[in-house]
Order: sequence, then C-alpha cells, then structure tokens
Amino acid sequence: MSLRIYNTLSRELEVFSPLRPGEVRMYVCGMTVYDYCHLGHARSMIAFDVVQRWLKASGYRVNYVRNITDVDDKIIKRAVENGESIRSLTDRMIDALHEDADALGIERPTHEPRATEYVPQMLSMIGTLEGKGLAYRSPNGDVNYAVRKFPGYGKLSGKSLDELHAGERVAVLDGKDDPLDPVLWKSAKESEPADVKWPSEFGPGRPGWHIECSAMACALLGETLDIHGGGADLQFPHHENEIAQSEGANGKPLARTWMHNGFINIDDEKMSKSLGNFFLIRDVLKSFDAETIRFFVLRAHYRSPLNYSDVHLQDARASLKRLYTALQRVPAASVAIDWSEPHAARFKAAMDEDFGTPEAVAVLFELAGAVNRAATNEEAAKLAGLLRALGGTLGILQDDPDAYLRAGATLDEATILAMIDQRAQAKAAKNFAEADRIRKELQDKGIVLKDSATGTTWAAAQ
Ligand SMILES: [Zn+2]
Repeated sequence: MSLRIYNTLSRELEVFSPLRPGEVRMYVCGMTVYDYCHLGHARSMIAFDVVQRWLKASGYRVNYVRNITDVDDKIIKRAVENGESIRSLTDRMIDALHEDADALGIERPTHEPRATEYVPQMLSMIGTLEGKGLAYRSPNGDVNYAVRKFPGYGKLSGKSLDELHAGERVAVLDGKDDPLDPVLWKSAKESEPADVKWPSEFGPGRPGWHIECSAMACALLGETLDIHGGGADLQFPHHENEIAQSEGANGKPLARTWMHNGFINIDDEKMSKSLGNFFLIRDVLKSFDAETIRFFVLRAHYRSPLNYSDVHLQDARASLKRLYTALQRVPAASVAIDWSEPHAARFKAAMDEDFGTPEAVAVLFELAGAVNRAATNEEAAKLAGLLRALGGTLGILQDDPDAYLRAGATLDEATILAMIDQRAQAKAAKNFAEADRIRKELQDKGIVLKDSATGTTWAAAQ
C-alpha cells in the first residue's frame, strides 16, 4: 500500500509521489517571531514533524523548510514598545521557539530561513512580477500584486474573487486597485526603525509577508514543491497569495500537494487572544509534560479540530502511562521494525492513509495489551521493542519507562524505596496488617505499588 495524502487543492485523497524519486521537498509556513509560541503553533509543528518523520520512515530523503518571519508590523510595534532592536527581539523569540519545539520532541527542519536574509530574492521576484504586468506601483509608494490579473486566484479556497470579496467586512483600498491585492513591497515610513528599511529599485522599504514565503520556498526548494503545508487559517489569503505570486512569476505550479492542519479549540471555543482563552506552550508545560502534549495532539487527526481542556490533557497523560507501563514490564528488545508483523502492518496502513495517527495510536494500545498478555518474557520483550520502535516514528515512547512513570510523584525516590523495603520486611514477618498499612500510605500519597516475582516496583498514580 502506498501513502495517500488529502490535497486541499484538489479536495481529494491522492496517492503521493514526489517529483524527484526518493526525495520530498516540503515547505511549511512558520512563525512570526514577536512573542512566545502558543498551542496553535505547537499543533502545526507537531503535525508536520509527524509528516516528515513518516516520510523518512517510508524511505524518503526529506528536505524540510520551515521559515521564520522576522520582519513584520507586529514585530516592529513590539520592539519599539520594549525599547529593543528588531534583531534583539527576534533572536530572543527564535531561541524561545527552539526551546519549546525541542521540548515537544520536534526535529529541527533541514532549513529555517529568516525572511530578512532573503530580501534580494524577494525583490527579484517582485521585479519579475512587475515585468509580467502582475504587480503595480501604488501612489503611496507600495508595490502591490494585481489579483485580477491572475486567472487562478481563489483556486485553493475554491472561491471566486467575488465570493472572496463577500467575506470582507470593510474594503480598505489603501492605494490598491482591488482590496484583495496583497502588498509585495511596503514603502518605508519616516517613523519606522532604520533596521526595517532596505534600499530597492522601488525605493526604501520592506517585503510584504506573502512574498517572503514565495521567494524562500523557490530559493531553497525550487519552483515546484512536493508538499506545502500550514495551519488551516493560512489557506486564505496567505497561501492563495503565495500561489498567485509564485505561479505568476515562475509559470509553474507552486506545490503538488497542499496540506492544512486543523484549529485548536479551548473548551469548545476557538482559541484567540481576544477571548482570553489563549495558551502559550511554556505555560502548559508547567502543568503537563511535553510528551503528554505531543500525545494529546497525535490522538486527533491532523485535519480535525482539536479540543483542548485540562481534562483531555489528564486523560492523554493517563493513556500514555498505560503504554509506558507495558514497556516497564520487560526491558524492550531493540528491534528493527518488521512491517509484515500484523501490528506493524496495521500501524503502517493507518499512517499511509493521510497520516492517520488516531488509528496508529490505537494499534499501539493493541500492542501494549499483547505485551501484557505475552506468555513468555522473551515474547513480551519482542513486542515491547516493537511498541517502542513504532512509537519512535511518532516521536513518543522513547523515555525510560521507570523515569517517565515516576515523574510527578509527590515523594522522593529514596523515601519510597525505604517504605517498600519496610513493607517487604513486614510481609516476611507475616505482619500483613503493617504491609497493607504501608501500601495504603503510599497510595494516599499518589504512589502505586506493583508486586511481581522479581520484587516490587512503583509508579505515580494516574
Ligand atoms: Zn507562508
């Protein structure tokens, strides 16, 4: 069976085949670095991390670009408010982004281009668009893209220009022939800091957001990408504009497959700053471990809306602990995945159907059940090894099971071990009341004991 991906552009599941055999070129729109990353960013980063991991597990070389927008109105405003330079603010926020992404087990992309390092390529593309009559200079000094001159405008959203207009609340022209025309080059304002002004044939200024991605994708991956991804909120206008710019300039399709991950809702409401139900990754990490957050995201399909609440996170943690408990039972044998093994084959079938992580996770639970039921330790170790290896393709279950299960315990380990020892002595002396009292005392403190032939182990309660 081969990988099928839902293509937003065709609105169909399509068999995936990259332009160059064996190699996948993937571009995903990254962060505008003026503040810390929130849960929406976490979801997008995890979704495409899983995509690139699965492509690698399927034998592809992956050239993955996730850009960084480091010049923008919000960045300028925040830097001025803070009294710091643009570079100091964006450097700090990029460091914070890496901290959050590393914590969530997200592999670094092949390239993370900063927009400010590709201004010459952006200017060159704007020049090409002007030469083809697709861009025009506005009286206010900006250079805009003329959406009415690009016949395919709206094809990603599946809407005509008139339908797209209908979605606008206020038509602000601001020197534009059409309110939908994106700015390619913003002319410099007197009040703006000097480090956001680049000289150009259009006068001093800075690039618009959309042209950044068009230019960086082309510079690093070529004119046609295998996969272009991003959050569903980027479909219009951002991705529609990228298509108009790149295809207008290059005369080739920008991407063969367009992938969009779904929104995050908070307690069934859309997460937004204005509603005040807005969570930063680093704040959620104060209450939940990173692997729990990652597992919570993976339990939903990447295109579905994902509903966040503490209860759902607690449930994800309890479920993840069940998988780790199966791994704890025996030392996991290190195994290369045999994809013909029935569990592995079901896992692969799930992932090959548009990255079906909910079904793939269900297979992990079947495997955990098989580990627990295994007749011999050897059989259990083999299955546990497969469980760990399959988890690895999703970026989970790589922690030491004992360490993972003990995290969050309210007693220190030495105290717990001393109490387990006292209980063993009480049992040896046939003082079962005392042994039960110690078990109960630990249980009240959130520590669960598990007896086996080889001794007693403990874990923090779920
Ligand atoms: Zn983009």
